[in-house]
Amino acid sequence: MASLYAEWRRQTQSPVFREGSSAPPEQLLQGIWQHQRIRRRDLRTTDGRLTAILHPGFLNPEAGPDFHRALVQVGNAKPFECDVEIDVRSAGWRQHGHDTNPAFDTVGLHVVWQAGPNGPSGLPVVELQNQLDAPLGQLTDALGQATTLPPQNVRGRCAAPLRDLPVEGVADLLGQAAQVRLETKAAALAAIAECAGWEQALWDGLFTALGYKQNSWPMRRLAELLPELRRGLGQTPEPVVLLARLLGTGGLLPDQLDRDKLTNRYLRTLWDQWWRDRDRLARRILPGNGWTFHGLRPANRPERRLALAAHWLAKRDFVTWLDDWICQPPKKPSPAAALLDRLAASDAYWSRHWTFRSGRFAAAQPLLGAGRLHDLAVNVLLPWLHARATAADNDGLAARVAERYFAWPKAQDNSRLKFVRQRLFGGRRVPLRGAALQQGLLQVQADFCNRTNALCDDCAFPDLVRRYSLEKT
Ligand code: SF4
Repeated sequence: MASLYAEWRRQTQSPVFREGSSAPPEQLLQGIWQHQRIRRRDLRTTDGRLTAILHPGFLNPEAGPDFHRALVQVGNAKPFECDVEIDVRSAGWRQHGHDTNPAFDTVGLHVVWQAGPNGPSGLPVVELQNQLDAPLGQLTDALGQATTLPPQNVRGRCAAPLRDLPVEGVADLLGQAAQVRLETKAAALAAIAECAGWEQALWDGLFTALGYKQNSWPMRRLAELLPELRRGLGQTPEPVVLLARLLGTGGLLPDQLDRDKLTNRYLRTLWDQWWRDRDRLARRILPGNGWTFHGLRPANRPERRLALAAHWLAKRDFVTWLDDWICQPPKKPSPAAALLDRLAASDAYWSRHWTFRSGRFAAAQPLLGAGRLHDLAVNVLLPWLHARATAADNDGLAARVAERYFAWPKAQDNSRLKFVRQRLFGGRRVPLRGAALQQGLLQVQADFCNRTNALCDDCAFPDLVRRYSLEKT
């Protein structure tokens, strides 16, 4: 007799794929790969080579290949680490533009439901349709809702000793990692300050963080050019004047545009400023291909980030305000709220546009979301204040910065944090209070996970956790 539970489950789960459909959706294929529901012992590439999947890699929720850092052995060759791309058919490789997207250069294995022409040349290909470990309908039922759960093999070796540690112990250990992270970031900013001065180190840090992953380097370059870009502007320049120089030097000012009256007028204002400076800064203009726009959300366009930076640069007391803020005892509103309020800015044009080409939206949008502003505080502003306090041998101030760092509210969860949590804690819920413990998690990832492979080979962290446990008992 059919189980009531099984029947209930079949009825309530949305069918991702049913036998008889022409091909399963890519999401299901990703689930199959993630959970390795394939005939692993006899897996073959399309040219007949026996293939061992030592680790399927980690599902990438963002743009780029579907799985990062898989460990694969094809035929008698040595195992190699690579990214894995999953497509329904081989031709998806070109249809989706992977052949021209440098983010896919790291792909070493193409996994498809059905192999055929127009796939990547020179890559081993695994065709799934005849190599599953169960009928597709059964896998659909099994994986339809499970693809977001971490399979056993995503958990790191440290998950076991961490499970035996009380939550307070985990928090203490991550707190120690967070302190290391604060000091490491502070030391990097102090190194910049040594050659360029403290204020320049602050701008380098802020611009780099504003570039986020995709555009940190061109943003950093613009920050380095600030002494030249600010020349002759006086103490309180108009943000639009600064922005014209930033956009012009960044190569982000379009030559012509015929969009709408507002944009045309705004562009004319920017060009009126920029043409005066263009000859002087001509040799500094960044090439257009230095920026990455592929996969970038419109809200994160560099033009908007630079508009925000221009507003900060136009504030004469931007730096002195930070010094006052850290020296004052906490008061209402909270220090975090006061800092966020200080960093927020609105711009007549960019608060209502994503790009020069987009239409104007009715309601103003923040130039940078609260989550990213929190990140800037934890990753740049507090480390910078800590670095200066340390350089001045001001232990009291350094302790105050650390106190504020450890009291900083938790940042928005993101895919990177989720991933590290899955590896370290598996399915265990460990409440992490505050942004600093999240930083601690990322530090463990940087210090341990990123230095080994997906199988945690030779990772010392599990032993460290065990030692810590013994010391505490
Ligand atoms: S590499 Fe080390 S720290 Fe990372 S998950 Fe594996 S055992 Fe844990």
